[in-house]
Amino acid sequence: ALILGLESSCDDSAVALVTSDRRIVAQRVVGQNSAHAPFGGVVPEIAARAHVDVLPGLVAEVLEEAGITVGEVDAIAATAGPGLIGGVMVGLLTGKGLALASGKPLLAINHLEGHALSPRLVDPALGFPYLLLLASGGHCQLLEVRGVGDYRRLGTTIDDAAGEAFDKAAKLLGLPYPGGPAMEELAAGGDPKAVPLPRPLIGSAEPHFSFAGLKSAVQRAVAAGIHRPEDVAASFQQAVVDCMVDRTRLALRMSDAPALVVAGGVAANGAIRSALASLAEGEGRAFSVPPGWLCTDNAAMIAWAGAERFSSGLVDGLDAPARARWPLDPLAEAVRGAGV
Ligand code: ATP
Ligand code: FE
Repeated sequence: ALILGLESSCDDSAVALVTSDRRIVAQRVVGQNSAHAPFGGVVPEIAARAHVDVLPGLVAEVLEEAGITVGEVDAIAATAGPGLIGGVMVGLLTGKGLALASGKPLLAINHLEGHALSPRLVDPALGFPYLLLLASGGHCQLLEVRGVGDYRRLGTTIDDAAGEAFDKAAKLLGLPYPGGPAMEELAAGGDPKAVPLPRPLIGSAEPHFSFAGLKSAVQRAVAAGIHRPEDVAASFQQAVVDCMVDRTRLALRMSDAPALVVAGGVAANGAIRSALASLAEGEGRAFSVPPGWLCTDNAAMIAWAGAERFSSGLVDGLDAPARARWPLDPLAEAVRGAGV
């Protein structure tokens, strides 16, 4: 099947055409970094308006590059959440319009399912189940991916997301948004042992994460004014790596999944990728991580999640809602909401 995918849940407008036999026929990603840069973070209203401006043109470009009309795709996949609700509505309504006009079915995709299944787009050998570290701008979770639409959450962050921690630490060092790539670059020239920073929750009995205290420690280190910025960046990155390795090791020991997978924007980080690859090897598990462009937001992963759902007969109606919050494992989320 040939699936058209649309992504607009944060600050990237993206469109892709992907086949269920893993061919990326065409794709576009247009970021909005310069629009948000003066504000030091994503401004939801600016993001939504930019998606309105950009998304329809990207659909036309992708279809033209593939030499087809929208009537020739098998289904339209659009991110329906979670994310900034204005942007989500723009992409979902664009998808609904295309579905209505072409008579093709709509696939309302959970953005997190896009990240979760993205490794399977480029790694045909990766079967279910696998243990997933989903580390992105809004999330840091350990999930057992048992099948399409079948997720069990083992751990999550109790405060900031991993990417959020990178972005906040980067801001403290005066680096531009998004901070992740800038921090990684700066860290390359620094000493990861130079600045003593905490490793929150390391050794605790459940595989949860916490990054807020790490951010505060970076704030104090910067305020002290005695450390080189590259040493702060390298020490911060090392602390995140240590937390991820410890927490993921615990989750691996709670799961008999034969493979470890890392996805989401933070999975683009080289230090994190190689630390988790070594962890998997040490624990006797296979390892898979998508290429960097597939870790950060894109529409190929949305089209691919659409292809996986379409193959399982999971299509949606034109009344599919846009959701600001949409957990992959609602049961675990409810338990945490109850304060457990
Ligand atoms: P979510 O997927 O949770 O809804 P999002 O879509 O905004 O959030 P992604 O696009 O998946 O998040 O990831 C963006 C995050 O990844 C940002 O916080 C960014 O700083 C971080 N990131 C990107 N590249 C790197 C890198 N090389 N090292 C560390 N972090 C990175
Ligand atoms: Fe994302």
